[in-house]
Amino acid sequence: MAGKTVVILGGGMGGLAAAQQLRTLLPQEHRVVVVEKRSTFYMCTFNLRLMAGEIGTREEVERPLTGLKNKGIEWVHGEVLELDPKTRRMRTSAGTLVADYMVIALGAEKNESGIPGFAESALNLYESDGALRIRKAVQGFEKGRAVVLVGRTPFPCPAAPCESALLMDAAFRKKGVRGVVEVAIYTPEPKPFPSAGQEMSDNVLVMLKERDIQYHAKHVVKKIDSAARKLMFDGEEASFDLLVGIPPHAAPRVVRDAGLTDDTGWVPVDLATMETNHPGVFAIGDVTAIRQPNPTGLFLPKAWVFADEQARVVARNVAAQLRGEDASSKFDGKGFCYLEVGDGQAAYGSGNFFAYPAAKVFMEPPSKRLHEERKRTELEQLQSLV
Ligand SMILES: Cc1cc2nc3c(=O)[nH]c(=O)nc-3n(C[C@H](O)[C@H](O)[C@H](O)COP(=O)(O)OP(=O)(O)OC[C@H]3O[C@@H](n4cnc5c(N)ncnc54)[C@H](O)[C@@H]3O)c2cc1C
Repeated sequence: MAGKTVVILGGGMGGLAAAQQLRTLLPQEHRVVVVEKRSTFYMCTFNLRLMAGEIGTREEVERPLTGLKNKGIEWVHGEVLELDPKTRRMRTSAGTLVADYMVIALGAEKNESGIPGFAESALNLYESDGALRIRKAVQGFEKGRAVVLVGRTPFPCPAAPCESALLMDAAFRKKGVRGVVEVAIYTPEPKPFPSAGQEMSDNVLVMLKERDIQYHAKHVVKKIDSAARKLMFDGEEASFDLLVGIPPHAAPRVVRDAGLTDDTGWVPVDLATMETNHPGVFAIGDVTAIRQPNPTGLFLPKAWVFADEQARVVARNVAAQLRGEDASSKFDGKGFCYLEVGDGQAAYGSGNFFAYPAAKVFMEPPSKRLHEERKRTELEQLQSLV
């Protein structure tokens, strides 16, 4: 059989996992190509550890994508400008490519300007320089209201807002100022981790309450007055002295322009195989909208753990097809996440997001062992990807 070309759009957590798996499974005559506009790989999960001061700088955990070459993966350093899922052709800033199989792993675009006043007022937890600024701001904070604001849903990593509040709480306690510092979360979500089932939400609410962290659910911010340090909601205001923000997210423009999104604003895929409406075109990770196959109708959280498993499913099925076999690998909706709580401890949730009649995710209480396990898992992931 003549060699085929698999093009992976996006060299983030899902895209690189797909590239590794494909390269492992496909004979050398087939090309595995990653198109990525950045020149280095960095895992956003490190932002929390940057914020907590466990990692000094982004550079410590950033890896050049030139390393992909040693693994037999081609890297096109360019931006995807246009793509046509029918012909599997794409125009990039580094030339045009045509794929036999296309894997879209372009993640979610951050849109700070989606909320007036966000850019001027909030320290963006979802950027590494924002995480460093939060670290500094927390160190210098002596008194007042430290607020975590979720701008809009959906957003990647539903744990991160609670984790940042828990880390601030721990830092303020360590400094001895917690008695004069309020910590609060404002979010459009009805409860923490809504799509992970009742047990997980309840456990997290208890942890927040035990630490006197306010949780204001169903709050959609309209605008932020940076001079007055006020969040404006429908008929309600809230003050802040330090604002940690999660900006609105959207599917990247190139994906929307290609007509790949539906009325959710994200790419619908077959929930078992990640194939889009176009044969041979798959989408994985944050760019997708996957509704849980249970009566809740909630969407799967945008998380690395799912992007990674979806990458494996797609790679196994593409490899099977190229061998002339049935594509029988299926994504099962199982996942896990760590929840950093401060003081060098983390909790751990794991379970089945496709369970009936609702996701069943169980939580292991915080411990130092889980925190160390998380650090090890993240570093192993980094080493395996580039
Ligand atoms: C602070 C934080 C903590 C998190 N913690 C966890 C955690 O503990 N556990 C967990 O499971 N998940 C966590 N996540 C979520 C996780 O990082 C994402 O779900 C994961 O990165 C999704 O992978 P992806 O490949 O879909 O997207 P990404 O990793 O975002 O990759 C997308 C890639 O596409 C590239 N790209 C975009 N547009 C173009 C274009 N036009 N041309 C070329 N390249 C392009 C981008 O540069 C990027 O490299 C966290 C996220 C954040 C922000």
